[in-house]
Amino acid sequence: MTLLVDGARLLDRIDQLGSISSGTGGGITRLAWSPEDLRARSLVGTWAAAAGASLRVDPAGNLIAERPGSRAGAAPVVTGSHLDTVIGAGPLDGAYGVVAGIEVLACLAEQGLVLDHPLRVMAFSNEEGVVAPPFTGSRAISGGFVESELSTPGPDGRTLASRLLDAGIDPTAVSRARWSGSVAATIELHIEQGPVLDRAGVGIGAVTGITGQRRGSVRVTGQANHAGTTPMAARRDALVAAARVVLSVHDLATAGPADVATVGRLDTKPGVPNVVPGDVVLSVDIRALAEASGDSAIERLRTQLAEIARETETTIELDVSPPTRAVLTDPDLRSMVIESAERRGLGCIELPSGAGHDASHLASLGPMAMIFVPSIAGISHNAAETTPPEDLVAGAQVLLDVIRRADNTRADRTSKQAR
Ligand SMILES: [Zn+2]
Repeated sequence: MTLLVDGARLLDRIDQLGSISSGTGGGITRLAWSPEDLRARSLVGTWAAAAGASLRVDPAGNLIAERPGSRAGAAPVVTGSHLDTVIGAGPLDGAYGVVAGIEVLACLAEQGLVLDHPLRVMAFSNEEGVVAPPFTGSRAISGGFVESELSTPGPDGRTLASRLLDAGIDPTAVSRARWSGSVAATIELHIEQGPVLDRAGVGIGAVTGITGQRRGSVRVTGQANHAGTTPMAARRDALVAAARVVLSVHDLATAGPADVATVGRLDTKPGVPNVVPGDVVLSVDIRALAEASGDSAIERLRTQLAEIARETETTIELDVSPPTRAVLTDPDLRSMVIESAERRGLGCIELPSGAGHDASHLASLGPMAMIFVPSIAGISHNAAETTPPEDLVAGAQVLLDVIRRADNTRADRTSKQAR
């Protein structure tokens, strides 16, 4: 049976969520666990209840709407995204995936269609990480929540523990949100937040994986000295060396193994016009889908830093934090995304995600896939974030198709294994 999403309802609900904002500045602001975030959750709760789903809030504050499956003991198929936003966000980042998940629930309910597996639609807690380290909800589910986060002050000085208490969540119980069993499939629908699909003119992206991330800092030490009296040949200018470091990092992606590489910050000391800079600290952010590429980018950077230090008579130290590993999507689920898009006459390409997502944290529990729709001009985390309405509807339709296919396929597999 062909099942079609209700596009008008989907778009209307996205609009309704978009009106829930603290209203400070432009765009939408719904910080995690704020009154606006809680209002958005309760609105989504009414839609889930109207679709006959059961509702609960887990110990990490994740909102979970569930439609039971027909097969006893079957692992859930999971979808959804997040409702919290950055400051001055657009209407689609996160909210779109939650609304589309609810739309799938509603379609199944209206047709009286019962899947083999339970369908779990999530609104994950604190994906964005504005007020506390990101992915609180999805990390708690997969066992990646660290208790020390509770007592760490956020940017406004408040700890996560006090924030949770105010939202009615017991901070000592967050880790109990961990799921003991596996999942049959996790499929998250999200806007791309980059320009690739828009530039290619295609409506659907089948995500190959979430890139691994290596962050670090580079410290260049030279000699601060008088800008008028120090001859050029006698200088050990830390900023001149740092300029070469910036270009080297850039080249790690344009002419090297990384997918993208960025220096986003440069702190120069003493930072006055008439002194040769003696000390510069740079941030480094390197991302790659292939782990070997990420590792070799760091190695290449080390070699180049040594060369720059020698030629500029400076000292250069590189400090790299433990990497966030790349997470690949499941090839079978990815094929289902591509096939659904083709069957529906939508263009589809495969692409990696340079941004982190909740789904990647659930990949340790079972096969995971992500569906992207275009972001016009690649703009996101901004009030101007837009996706053509027809693409939003098409993405939700592909989500529905893939959930039904995954439900079938996983059921076959599990029953074969059981025999
Ligand atoms: Zn998001």
